[in-house]
Amino acid sequence: MLGPEMLPGDTEPAANDLEIVIIGAGFSGLGMGIRLLGAGIRSFTILERAGEVGGTWRDNSYPGCACDIPSHLYSYSFELEPGWSRAFPSQPEIQDYLVRCCDRYGVRPHVRFDTEVAEARYDEATCRWQIRSTRGETFEADVLINGTGPLSQPQIPDLPGLDSFAGPCFHSAAWDHEVELAGKRVAVIGTGASAIQIVPELAPVVKKLHLFQRTPPWVLPKPDRSFSPGLRERFRRRPWLQRLYRTWIYWRLELAALGFLGKSQRLMRVAERMARRHIRESIQDPALRRAVTPDYPIGCKRVLISNDYYAALSRPEVELLGSGVGEIRPHAVVDARGVEHEVDAIVLATGFRATDFLAPMRIYGTGGRELGETWAEGAESFLGITVSRFPNFFMLVGPNTGLGHNSMIFMIEAQIHYILQCVQRLRAADVRAMDLRPARQSGFSRELQRKMAGTVWLSGCQSWYLGEDGRNFTLWPGFTFDYWLRTRRLRERDYELIAA
Ligand code: NAP
Repeated sequence: MLGPEMLPGDTEPAANDLEIVIIGAGFSGLGMGIRLLGAGIRSFTILERAGEVGGTWRDNSYPGCACDIPSHLYSYSFELEPGWSRAFPSQPEIQDYLVRCCDRYGVRPHVRFDTEVAEARYDEATCRWQIRSTRGETFEADVLINGTGPLSQPQIPDLPGLDSFAGPCFHSAAWDHEVELAGKRVAVIGTGASAIQIVPELAPVVKKLHLFQRTPPWVLPKPDRSFSPGLRERFRRRPWLQRLYRTWIYWRLELAALGFLGKSQRLMRVAERMARRHIRESIQDPALRRAVTPDYPIGCKRVLISNDYYAALSRPEVELLGSGVGEIRPHAVVDARGVEHEVDAIVLATGFRATDFLAPMRIYGTGGRELGETWAEGAESFLGITVSRFPNFFMLVGPNTGLGHNSMIFMIEAQIHYILQCVQRLRAADVRAMDLRPARQSGFSRELQRKMAGTVWLSGCQSWYLGEDGRNFTLWPGFTFDYWLRTRRLRERDYELIAA
């Protein structure tokens, strides 16, 4: 196994030792920190809003939380884990992995916990970033790297009367473990990736579960299994075997891109047939079958995987309410048809503010322009990493680099590689800042939206992938190896270099 001392690119510090601030200590920020250390760059700080690393995998601790990407691919390429207990890892296992990586590579001393960034301003005179936390602390940096990701701000729905609810009410990403839900009447609002993992866990223990569905998801069987101690030992002893297995998973998942990108209708038809069969085989009641069958093409929203969601819906304690939510009263949720359902607690499995990139932080570039306002008409960037007029500012999992079919860690590592090249360039004595050329940004955005045109994501459904105007600024409309190739080498001509 690769160790911290074996990270590629370990070099002596250059003359120009930059101050680097990374926001967020999740998969992105930690990975960036690890690679900076591997390159001999130690002058960086990770500002983390919480008291532990892990990001979304620390926050999402709801019952049943697991990843829908296979474990052996959902890890850093430089830190393979032979000991995954199953094909699809659970939240505690992933969180343990991240904590281990943080400590093993010596990133923890660089993390400043309980520090949430409120705003960052680029000072054109000094070519430096002035950063302010929500508690008023200030920091300065030559380079600012955002690693907060699109799934860090819960989406609290604007439901009439929500504030009047008298019992416990919490979001899936802020699970209140103090609240005992066993034997209670519970409303779960939403039927996305989080809800379909929560419902099978709650159904057997609650007195009654009212599940408020606005739009049914497509759900495929989950090819999950546990890994025997023998197999884990083989992976441990033969890292090449594990890497081969990882590569096989990557290409198998990558094949699905053909369907999402509109290049293989056949693939999507096969997937839809599998999903319909899954409904037929798991649910006996014809009315329930109808209620859970989507009326939009598979893939338009994120395709979910579960072996126990439909079975849970068939339990007598569970009532699926297909009309959505009308209003909330102190002791009840009223469905859209006006029927009141008395409940003791509400779980909001209503997703994240994925298209409000970086909110509620405010990032000010040259001329005092604010990033959120600059992106009011659409989040444009280059490779989801740099934005014109925001010099020395880099994003991990920025606009149009999300995935519906493969591992985000692959994208994150490609971005880290690209940013590291930028940082190396900025450490040279002749340049202080780099600013993306506007023409490069607009050309790239036009290319993305052109490629987006034939994809299943624009086939007519409503999803968090889309902005208010129906354009997709969240997903990468291509193969991930194409993205990887584009991030291999920094092309200096894409940037205006500001001399020292
Ligand atoms: P989500 O997929 O956005 O689902 C939110 C659900 O809440 C949807 O069913 C949505 O209905 C419903 N909803 C939202 N506002 C509502 C309202 N006002 N009234 C009624 N229903 C409302 O969110 P999520 O389940 O938290 O998942 C978000 C993303 O996190 C996933 O797509 C995935 O990328 C990631 N995730 C991954 C895993 C994993 O296994 N790796 C697990 C959990 C989450 P509509 O469909 O009608 O909008």
